Amino acid sequence: MKKRVLLSAALFAAFSAAAQNYDDWFLDKTLRLDYVIAGNDKNADIYLQSLASTPGWGGRRANLSEPYLEGNGQITVRDAETGQVIYVQTYSTLFQEWQTEEEATKVNKAFEATNLVPFPKKPVEITVTLTDNHRKESARLTHTVDPSDILIRPKGENPTPHRYIMKNGSSADCVDIALVAEGYTEADSAKFLLDAQRAVDAIFTHEPFQSLKDRFNVIAVQAVSEEKSPTMPRKGQWHDTAVGTHYDTFYSDRYLMSEEVHHLYDLLAGIPFDQVIVLVNADTYGGGGIFNQLTISTTDHPTFKNVLVHEFGHGYAGLADEYFYDDGFVPFYPLDTEPWEPNITTMVDFDSKWKDLVPAGTPVPTPPDPNIPSLREIYKNHDKKGMELLNACTQKVGVFEGGGYTSKGVFRPVQECRMKINEVENFCPVCTRAIIRATDFYTGR
Ligand SMILES: [Zn+2]
Repeated sequence: MKKRVLLSAALFAAFSAAAQNYDDWFLDKTLRLDYVIAGNDKNADIYLQSLASTPGWGGRRANLSEPYLEGNGQITVRDAETGQVIYVQTYSTLFQEWQTEEEATKVNKAFEATNLVPFPKKPVEITVTLTDNHRKESARLTHTVDPSDILIRPKGENPTPHRYIMKNGSSADCVDIALVAEGYTEADSAKFLLDAQRAVDAIFTHEPFQSLKDRFNVIAVQAVSEEKSPTMPRKGQWHDTAVGTHYDTFYSDRYLMSEEVHHLYDLLAGIPFDQVIVLVNADTYGGGGIFNQLTISTTDHPTFKNVLVHEFGHGYAGLADEYFYDDGFVPFYPLDTEPWEPNITTMVDFDSKWKDLVPAGTPVPTPPDPNIPSLREIYKNHDKKGMELLNACTQKVGVFEGGGYTSKGVFRPVQECRMKINEVENFCPVCTRAIIRATDFYTGR
């Protein structure tokens, strides 16, 4: 426990350097770092595979040397001469999710990862770290990059065809969301643009995204697939698609992901973005969201709009799932460690979470409201009043037991939230605050 706190303190001390002026250190250009992360349930190693440069920089230009959240992965860029931290980005990886799977106890596997950092003017030292679910460092790679290195390959001079479907400002002032077409053939290009518009409607009809809308740009990236719809291994259907997504990730039916991360970044080269959402042309439920990496959703499933905004909660704001089934191979959130995600707590450090939003006298754990019928009853009885009660409870903050895939010892802020069930309209006040904070952070406010 103590070790964890010390490590976190060290991590954040490194990040708390003085504010950086973008132009002092960086060109209007991106340095792309392709890595391979390999290992098993206990060990992880990070290898540098290649370096590339792409035109423009779509990321943030403020708050450069501090992270929004801790994440499970951190990339830190230091001026090689002075050691000063000049850029930090945090994220999570599919590899680390896999480490909690039983398969990881039996075999070593490798996963692709890509990080984008602003292109440095002078040589830099780059450190990539991974932290485990106890928030302890589990892997580290440090290497230098000289911006004059002849092996930094220029990419993105002829980017994938793309168009803005919502533009509210420059890339520097707004969060840029790239919507990437997956499983759309040449003949499906008009459908993709319609689906991209539906995705925008889905995200920005929900608060707080609706109120923050003018701080986002959305770009539709018209990648073309040879074949329709993604690969579905459990049915023996293997398709040649632009992003290489497939169902059955980690043998879970609805876990739709892509492991072709380097190729995805090739498709995005030269397009300014902060966030990537892959829109998958399929009607079978599936998707996923990995913080600051990737959000994926299928566009023809009836719940598309509801699922997308939930997955984007993971990908954009680092929100945890507030539901719990107790079906994990190992606990995703050990009870002796406060998770870094803003909307769940183990009570190890509740002060750092939503304690300030809990009304005085609220019991812990907060008992669920017995007057709210179950979803099944609401649908069976067409119970409008019950639905109203359900939606109202999303705003009543307490400390409810169950969350983060665990029924005991992990707590969530409200009885029902968008990060728990898709049927309610709103995010809870804690998730809402996190989305606003993320947006302020990435747009430098
Ligand atoms: Zn919530």
